[in-house]
Amino acid sequence: ASTLLQEDVTWSPVDQRHFLQTISGEADRLAQLVNNLLDLSRQEAGLLHLNRAPARIQDLVTQTIERLSHPNVVISQHIPANLPLVNIDRARIEVVLHNLVANALIYGEDEIHISAGRQDDGIVISVMDNGPGITSDELPHVFERFYRARHGYQQHSGGTGLGLTICKAFVEAHGGMIWAESGGRGTTISFSLPLVSPVVTAMPVNTITL
Ligand code: ATP
Ligand code: MG
Repeated sequence: ASTLLQEDVTWSPVDQRHFLQTISGEADRLAQLVNNLLDLSRQEAGLLHLNRAPARIQDLVTQTIERLSHPNVVISQHIPANLPLVNIDRARIEVVLHNLVANALIYGEDEIHISAGRQDDGIVISVMDNGPGITSDELPHVFERFYRARHGYQQHSGGTGLGLTICKAFVEAHGGMIWAESGGRGTTISFSLPLVSPVVTAMPVNTITL
């Protein structure tokens, strides 16, 4: 914006549009960052409100792949057609999937595989890449706030180290778990979503006893 506002330079409409696109993109990124930080604080205070509704995991995965498609990376998926619906806050789980696939694009190489399947009382969704992986000493830390691994490709990206912390907060708010696996090559990050919403244990304040 300050470059565009310089009084001694006249920019062509094409250049102006280019600057405006950058400003708009960065404003969106900042708004997203602020929203995510607010959601993290809400979750820590136990005040994150979920707007749950039945959703098809297949739809979320297809949408994420469409949004993040990249010419040099093949994103494949394997999701059984009979997977049950899950009762989730769709927007929050979209953020989780988006962050995992975005990481696989940045820190991985040229192949990403997304799978989902039924496991015990829930559904497990995994995002796998064929990048250099995460070393065993760094693996336990990747969900920590602001943590960025020393090895791998992260030095080329301007991430904040909050993406996986946000994923963990949103998945746990749904009563699920998230974990990372990496053995030498490639990384798989998986999360579970329970098929039944956690039981509300608090009694309503105004219960009338007959
Ligand atoms: P952002 O807040 O923009 O997401 P970030 O990507 O650095 O920033 P996280 O998504 O929380 O933050 O990831 C934390 C770190 O974990 C990354 O910096 C990277 O070092 C490592 N990491 C995450 N996903 C992968 C992956 N698929 N392969 C290898 N390393 C990964
Ligand atoms: Mg990230």
